[in-house]
Amino acid sequence: MRLLLLAPPGAGKGTQGERLAAWSGVRHIAAGDLLRAEAQAEGRLGREIAAYQARGDLVPDQIVLDVLTPVVVEAVARGGYILDGFPRTLPQATAAADLAARLGVTLDAAVYLYAPEAVLTRRLLDRASQGGRSDDKADVIRHRLQVFAETTGPLVPYYTERGILVAVNADQPPDSVTADIQARLAGLARAAGR
Ligand code: ADP
Repeated sequence: MRLLLLAPPGAGKGTQGERLAAWSGVRHIAAGDLLRAEAQAEGRLGREIAAYQARGDLVPDQIVLDVLTPVVVEAVARGGYILDGFPRTLPQATAAADLAARLGVTLDAAVYLYAPEAVLTRRLLDRASQGGRSDDKADVIRHRLQVFAETTGPLVPYYTERGILVAVNADQPPDSVTADIQARLAGLARAAGR
């Protein structure tokens, strides 16, 4: 199983990524978590990553690729991955496709989780009130949603054109979202004759 989750902040990528990884037995690779871990490191690179994340700006593509590539390569060798939050820009998507081609694998599906912006904002503010992440602040949330719409949104037509986009309504209880994703993946696998 090689899958990616494409979703705005608050749509539940992390939750669904964990569940899908447990279900399929492959590694859950959360780009934001890996970058947050890098940001903890001493030195210039860590400070630079932390600053992008604190503002809700995307970390530059080259840094993301340096962090993610070895993790993806290892996951492919172990049977696959659920990529959560990567790729997030068109250049990252192209680099990810080149990497997959080099490794001789293809992506099974790109799962797009969508929900109204008011729902996403409410969820992130709820998380903030429960002591969530430092980027869960009203102005930074607004900026992250805008960055998603402008920079990551174009990946929806990109994967649609490649015939692997699965769009699922994320404005439902987590169990229903998981069930919808699983049903749609089964449909895609049948259509592909797998
Ligand atoms: P969310 O989707 O709720 O914003 P994430 O943990 O996925 O949460 O991402 C948090 C932050 O990490 C982003 O705002 C961005 O700064 C950085 N980040 C995560 N993934 C990427 C990526 N693929 N490219 C660039 N920056 C990323």
